[in-house]
Amino acid sequence: MLLPVPAIVQWLRETDETRIQELYDAADRVRREHVGDAVYFRALIQVSNICFRQCSYCGMRASNQSLQRYRLTRQEILECAALAAAQGCGTVIMRAGEDFGIESEWMADIIRTIKRDMAIAVTLSLGERSDQELERWRQAGADRYILRFETSDPELYARIHPPAPGQSPTHHRIEQLVRLRDMGYEIGSGVMVGIPGQSLRSLARDIELFREFNLDMITVGPYLPHPLTPLGSVETDPVSIPDNQVPNSEAMTYRVIALARMICPEAAIPSTTALSTLNVARGRELELQRGANVIIPNLTPARYRRYYDNYPDIARIQASFEHYFDDLKKRVEAIDRTVGKGPGNRKRGSWAPKE
Ligand code: SAH
Repeated sequence: MLLPVPAIVQWLRETDETRIQELYDAADRVRREHVGDAVYFRALIQVSNICFRQCSYCGMRASNQSLQRYRLTRQEILECAALAAAQGCGTVIMRAGEDFGIESEWMADIIRTIKRDMAIAVTLSLGERSDQELERWRQAGADRYILRFETSDPELYARIHPPAPGQSPTHHRIEQLVRLRDMGYEIGSGVMVGIPGQSLRSLARDIELFREFNLDMITVGPYLPHPLTPLGSVETDPVSIPDNQVPNSEAMTYRVIALARMICPEAAIPSTTALSTLNVARGRELELQRGANVIIPNLTPARYRRYYDNYPDIARIQASFEHYFDDLKKRVEAIDRTVGKGPGNRKRGSWAPKE
């Protein structure tokens, strides 16, 4: 569906509960028509929390010296991937901070090994990397790359995501997404909902950009303030919050997911952990019923999980993962959906993004 930015803004502003429910129902219908009832499990491996960046929202920023840093070994990563495959996940997502200790050939070898030994898709989410590295990983067999552009507003972007030393202050992530697509990756991107300084209009433009990019995967979650970051440590006086500031709420996140589904009907849209921290009991189900069709179980070994501390999240340090997959599968089946088999690659139908 082609929705001009003012119409998206209107949906974001909508307060009539009946209308909002109509949007959710429409998104659920579009989801069923275009990607069906299957919910794909894509296993997350948080390879490293080492990061040289200074993003003002993220707890893993370089200057957070109280965080213990780790990088998984090749063996640990391959064990996680094998576990993912054994559990029926058709994809592994390898995610990390911008850690240049993740060397190009080291990662290429891991990708080749996973592709050779397990019939699963490999998604990378390693931040901004050089074209040579991205090409090499693609040749090694990587299928997809996730890089959130975080916001399409260049001023806000420069404020929350300062350029690396020596880097120009342009929006490198938007440029990198274009190159990734040209290299043959399926591309995933998205934003945080409710980052301070994000206006409804700028969020509407973000959503419009999902369509322009014709994203294969859209990942959106609420911004969760982290006390050890510049952005998360400021106490905001509710009176000083501007009118059109996007709330970082559960309700607004559902709204964005539903609009993303309406606008990009073929995309893979995950239910994100960030949202399920706001509603542990029902968050996943509600996302899946309002546009989402993917779940991202976290398979990072338990002893490291607490250190991948981009935002505060109690679920990540839960000790027992014994029934984790069974519970997730039951939750999917309880809302009359099925667990997807295989990688769940994008199937292109008759839908095409309109100019
Ligand atoms: N270094 C990689 C992976 C970062 S972690 C990269 O930059 O792409 C994945 C995502 O966590 C980020 O893209 C960001 O959108 C999200 N994130 C970071 N801090 C957050 C916070 N405080 N609240 C919510 N999401 C956050």
